[in-house]
Amino acid sequence: MELADVGLSYPGRPPLRALEGVSISMQQGQFVSLIGPSGCGKSTLLRIVAGILDPTSGSVLVEGDSPITAQRAHRFGFVFQDPVLLPWRTVQENVELLTELVGLPANERRSRAKELLELVGLRGCEDFRPDQLSGGMRQRVSIARALALEPAILLMDEPFSALDEFQRELLNSELLRIWVERHCSVLFVTHHIEEAVFLSDTVMVMSPAPGRIIERVEVNLPRPRTDALRVSPEFLQLRRYLREVLIH
Ligand code: ADP
Repeated sequence: MELADVGLSYPGRPPLRALEGVSISMQQGQFVSLIGPSGCGKSTLLRIVAGILDPTSGSVLVEGDSPITAQRAHRFGFVFQDPVLLPWRTVQENVELLTELVGLPANERRSRAKELLELVGLRGCEDFRPDQLSGGMRQRVSIARALALEPAILLMDEPFSALDEFQRELLNSELLRIWVERHCSVLFVTHHIEEAVFLSDTVMVMSPAPGRIIERVEVNLPRPRTDALRVSPEFLQLRRYLREVLIH
């Protein structure tokens, strides 16, 4: 995925400059995080990549195509802070939603959803309704749903920020396992420094609005990443460094 010199102004008097000169190059299979203060344009950037918003300047290519073409070819999976599950549908039916919309036969829909629910650790919860699930379980359903059309790229917008710290750490590890198993790329928006370091190959730090990339940090920590890594000197050093970049 290539973003070259992307800028975006929201119309108004005066227009609001949300992004300026953002260039990002992401290889297939990479895990890249965008981190920055609230309002710096992280979600705007994700919406541009997804083809929901057109940039005012610059260009975006996803596997050589425009974002809208990539979106229509179902190359993206979306996970938001709010899992937005349909309350009247069971867990299984929520995961089947996208495959239903593209007209996959019922037996294939069912077996794919079952496999995904197993992948996200929700075997046995197929017939539950969303209101019977914890926040962490709901977000697992949302991840399973996002993977239903086998996207090449997962776009995740602060997916774990409504969870408590314990759930967040648990889901961080789960997400890395799923990412390895599904061989997808992930563009992950967060404002949580530790989470960004734990998950990513590269962390892109954004400035306050108008958002620019002010630092690219390669996270050369070994994989698979384990909880023990969170207290290692290398991890803590990277965390401290990112904190300094973000504060200054
Ligand atoms: P972040 O995700 O980093 O919190 P956003 O991308 O949501 O930031 O927003 C960046 C800036 O653009 C903010 O100042 C926000 O108020 C503004 N903004 C976001 N969406 C719109 C919109 N639809 N119309 C006008 N301004 C917007």
